[in-house]
Amino acid sequence: MKRDEQYSGGENFDLQTVLLRGRRLRLHERVECFGDFLRGLQRRGELTTMREVVSAADREVAVAEPGSGSPRKMLMFGSNNYLGLANHPYVVERVRRAVARFGAGIGGPPLLNGFTTLHRELEERLAALKGTEDAMIYSSGYGANVGLVTGLVNPDDFVLYDAYSHASFCDGLRMSGVEAHSFRHNDVDGLVRVLTRQAPGSSRDVFVGAEGVYSMDGDLAPVDRLVDICRACGAMLILDDAHGTGVMGPTGRGSAEHFGVEGKVDITMGTFSKVFAVTGGFVAAEKGIVEYLRYFARSYMFSASLPPAVIAAVLAGLDVMAREPDLRIRLHENVSYALEGLRSLGIEISCESGIIPLRVPRGMNIRRAARRFHELGIFVNPVEYPAVPLSQQRFRISMMATHTREDIDRLIDAVRAVWAEENLQDEEVCVQVGVRDAI
Ligand code: PMP
Repeated sequence: MKRDEQYSGGENFDLQTVLLRGRRLRLHERVECFGDFLRGLQRRGELTTMREVVSAADREVAVAEPGSGSPRKMLMFGSNNYLGLANHPYVVERVRRAVARFGAGIGGPPLLNGFTTLHRELEERLAALKGTEDAMIYSSGYGANVGLVTGLVNPDDFVLYDAYSHASFCDGLRMSGVEAHSFRHNDVDGLVRVLTRQAPGSSRDVFVGAEGVYSMDGDLAPVDRLVDICRACGAMLILDDAHGTGVMGPTGRGSAEHFGVEGKVDITMGTFSKVFAVTGGFVAAEKGIVEYLRYFARSYMFSASLPPAVIAAVLAGLDVMAREPDLRIRLHENVSYALEGLRSLGIEISCESGIIPLRVPRGMNIRRAARRFHELGIFVNPVEYPAVPLSQQRFRISMMATHTREDIDRLIDAVRAVWAEENLQDEEVCVQVGVRDAI
């Protein structure tokens, strides 16, 4: 195939062009064109992915400058380490002890040799946390969703899921080949309309997928209403509470506790990569379902278990969550303080979780703005198309309990400066592309 003129350099096309036009190219052409695109960003200092952190995960981190490698101190507003557990002294000590007792790793999947007393203890603690009979651990949150959906759902079942559901849930649906339809984000009336159209007594199972806290907007699903609707319509509710666990509810047990429906969600999924700040995922449900999934979720059966150090970090994190409720209170106070600051700049914004979605005004160049935040020592993650539609690009600000008021003041000062410098400099037209895969 003749090389497309548009791909002669990284300056003149953006990711949208690469994605849409790249589909027609051979692999080596796609690789070259994407490489050109990345190098163009690099030249302009606008590449804010894969930043190299050279210090411990904390409220302040050191990031190696591309090229020179010299460390730049930055305030971390891009981590899901909501309660600061990543380097909490008790968590670190428990991890040390677990490595000393169980070694560095385990070398196998749970059904074979990869199951220790620590793994079982954590399963029981997670089941208790979510008010279910049992729980099981996956080596990632992504794998938990994929394994859960592909393991549970038959191709002739029916799944309705919120349009803002995470990529891992959507990938599970694709792999399972089930008939799946999204409903408009948080449109419970729309959900009811479709559910009640299902033939009563139909032999297929119906599932509803939603998230306690949506990862891109930080808003909540009305979990209490979803529980009622699913019960009334005979559907099973699958709740991804990745960002709600440890953050929501009077004792941090998650979104179901926040809405007073603890133990009433059929299947809860969660991750260890958010509040516990390590890696891994879990599914909590009735005993029979967990037992079944252990043998039918392929991402569980065919993937090695998490090392004991990671399991110990989550167990220790659960202890800290119970013993130090102040951390969660401080997280929410920090969110309120940041929202006040942003509102004082005239930005209309709300948030009930640890994620503040700072929408980029129309006409602002998000990559240039991201570079300015970086230069100002503020680590925030730009969320660009195709993770969200072009018209909804934003910075995702992740708050932590350990941020100080001064840290948050610096964040607000940086937003003020970047908004003043960047706003309406660039009259690019934002095209709604309609692709949304949350990361
Ligand atoms: N579900 C949601 C809602 C998420 O935000 C994420 C992580 N971005 C996942 C699942 C996947 O979890 P992990 O990164 O732990 O694999």
